[in-house]
Amino acid sequence: MLLCVEVNFLVKHSGLSDLYDKVAAGERISEADALRLFESKDLNAIGAIADLVRERKNDNRASYIINRYINYSNYCILSCQFCAFSKKKRDADGFQLSVEEIVQKAREALSVGITELHIVGGLHPSLPFSYYTDMLRALKALDARLQLKCFTAIEILHLAWLAKKSGRDTLIALKEAGLESLTGGGAEIFRKEIRSQIAKGKESAEEYLDVHRTWHQLGGRSTCTMLFGHIESVADRVQHLSLLRGLQDETHGFTGFVPLPYQPDNNEIDVKHPPTGFDSLRTIAISRIYLDNFDHITAYWVGMGLKTAQVALSYGADDLHGTIIEEHIFHMAGAKSPQLHTEAEMLKAIREAGRTPVQRNTFYEPIKVWADTPPADEPDHDSHSKILDENLATA
Ligand code: SF4
Repeated sequence: MLLCVEVNFLVKHSGLSDLYDKVAAGERISEADALRLFESKDLNAIGAIADLVRERKNDNRASYIINRYINYSNYCILSCQFCAFSKKKRDADGFQLSVEEIVQKAREALSVGITELHIVGGLHPSLPFSYYTDMLRALKALDARLQLKCFTAIEILHLAWLAKKSGRDTLIALKEAGLESLTGGGAEIFRKEIRSQIAKGKESAEEYLDVHRTWHQLGGRSTCTMLFGHIESVADRVQHLSLLRGLQDETHGFTGFVPLPYQPDNNEIDVKHPPTGFDSLRTIAISRIYLDNFDHITAYWVGMGLKTAQVALSYGADDLHGTIIEEHIFHMAGAKSPQLHTEAEMLKAIREAGRTPVQRNTFYEPIKVWADTPPADEPDHDSHSKILDENLATA
């Protein structure tokens, strides 16, 4: 066994050394094993096992993407209980953007070097299907290299209903218009009993998985998520991970997994104890260990803050997500993180954690591998670019 002395000591005293041995031998852990990990309080031992997997898959690299979020509208015909984002037409703080406004936001963001637009919205009651295809085409016309990661599975089902097409034909039409990746949002927690309490009316687990399955069969890639730390049990989390691992075995179409810590404000769910740092780190670590067929685990700084996301790089995560620039969904639910992080802040966080920073594209492929120490011409860590600040001011 390749266990160094310090890790050996740490794991040996945790009662988890059989799981370490299993993982070190390249064996897959079971659902029962994952539950055991969730029941353990030895975060450092769990982290050591996760770090073994992370290092095997990604060596010493940790990635980030220069991206921008755009929400085209927050009007939604559903009212998921956990959601603080959706509004009805009567609400004063509802909004919807025209294609021209979206293109303008993209144009501004291109000037700070974004490679990806991440676009989602509510299930709009009246926008026609052509709005979505026009939006994709207009963004591709702006810059064909801009990668468009758009829509959650429930949005795809909504668009299929609007277009009067099957899910497959809807995805084909969106792909032809420029869609390159689906987002992973909307997975929430798959177990029906929990899902119906936090997101009544939303698509079922089977429907979520089927949209991603179809997209993968068409040659597309996507990410996937899990909203944790509300009313679900750890067994529900393991079942969720199990369904994702099963689909990945089938299609190999997921690029990465993004665990999302629940945000407790401005919604109908009474959650007394939203996710702590401990819970966020163990969930990332156990995901890394359990999802042995996933290449990447992202620590989503919007939900846990950059400080915890940075620590997560030693607990199984190999990616910090992106600069984002303008986030609404988590912030309307109480996230205290800033609206954006600059590339300089990402580089600092990654280097401090002892990893080599890599700027990646939508598919987690490297665009630029940075030096381990900052070159002289690298932007100052504390400086926000003028354009980013202007973007934030108009967000
Ligand atoms: S989570 Fe999505 S589908 Fe549910 S109410 Fe909010 S915007 Fe609508």
